[in-house]
Amino acid sequence: MSTSQKVHPAWIEIDLDQLHRNFALIRADLPANLRFLMVAKDNAYGHGAVEIAQAAINAGACMLGTVTVDEALQLRQNGISTPILVMGERTDAELAECIAHNLTPCINDVHTAAKLAKLAEQQQRQVDFHIEVDTGMSRYGVRWSKAAAVIAELNQITSLRLQGVMSHFAMSDELDKTFANQQLQRFEDMLAQLTARNISIPTRHMCNTGGFLDLPHAHFDMVRLGILPLGVYPSAVCRRIAGIAPIMAVKTRIAAIQELAFGDSVGYGMCYTAEKPHRLAVLLIGYGDGYPRVRNQGEVLIHGQRARIIGGNAMDAMMVDLSAMPQAQRWDEVVLQGKQGNDEISVHDIAKLKDTVSYDVLSGWRERLPRVYQTEGERP
Ligand SMILES: *Cc1c(COP(=O)(O)O)cnc(C)c1O
Repeated sequence: MSTSQKVHPAWIEIDLDQLHRNFALIRADLPANLRFLMVAKDNAYGHGAVEIAQAAINAGACMLGTVTVDEALQLRQNGISTPILVMGERTDAELAECIAHNLTPCINDVHTAAKLAKLAEQQQRQVDFHIEVDTGMSRYGVRWSKAAAVIAELNQITSLRLQGVMSHFAMSDELDKTFANQQLQRFEDMLAQLTARNISIPTRHMCNTGGFLDLPHAHFDMVRLGILPLGVYPSAVCRRIAGIAPIMAVKTRIAAIQELAFGDSVGYGMCYTAEKPHRLAVLLIGYGDGYPRVRNQGEVLIHGQRARIIGGNAMDAMMVDLSAMPQAQRWDEVVLQGKQGNDEISVHDIAKLKDTVSYDVLSGWRERLPRVYQTEGERP
């Protein structure tokens, strides 16, 4: 490779063909009549909200989900007109934005609903909204025991249209489903109270990926999928769908090669000392790009083989041991997350390095890394 070519020192590749396959496999797995909402919050977990949302819509997503109004506006500004559910809590100012841009807010209390209703009346509009019911997560929503009465009250407001009622699982992807089933029971009791009051809800939804995979009795009308279309499972124990694979790879190139002599130290803090002469590669990626801050820990793939990170990594650089790959040269491609040859470093491998979950690693890759979208060619 010529160094005059414009290359970023490190970048993220998103495999749109695999994304398309993931959606096709999910669609084949979805029971008939079960709709899905694509959760595109936090830049679609770092994958690029607009690209992922567009692919989701093409794959049949009936709705998109974000948590901030800005995230929803980014989708609107990129020409996406699909309904967007803005989850979480809203300020009064944000309610006006929701109306102006046709966003569907999720409402958690009577006060906010009244504000929304007033704004809708002022504009002589009818505004769609969903209500969240807290069934045990203790985050957003009306407490389950009070929810039916609140929903009945809000259902009376003529300037608002209650389109959905949702809840969220605190633990849907572990083997022990005791609490998930308790939450489900609370939600079902609340829905039964609504039925008794002759209130029917167009869209009832409770499941994230874990619930979709493992709690078919909790599917209701729609599931909210975030991580699964990206090819990553929320836990090691939830059900698998054959063929689903990660779409994100994080890559860089060898920027320099150093020859270490016996006794040389490597990196900040002098955490590594060479016990024999060997080569190391300098990579232009560090914790400032979202890689965990590590000390003699972690591996990358070079020529399809694992190279160990040695010394402490920096904000912008890390050093890896080239002892096992004498053929490695400057500007060779390096994989930090993803496949190379027959080996793969998974997002879970990286999550272990900082004692966290895959969600945190995916959404933790910084904007500094350009996202490159790849596709083999035309698709029908
Ligand atoms: C993030 C989120 C989801 C998506 O969860 P996944 O496990 O990524 O599928 C669903 N619902 C709500 C309320 C969320 O905040």
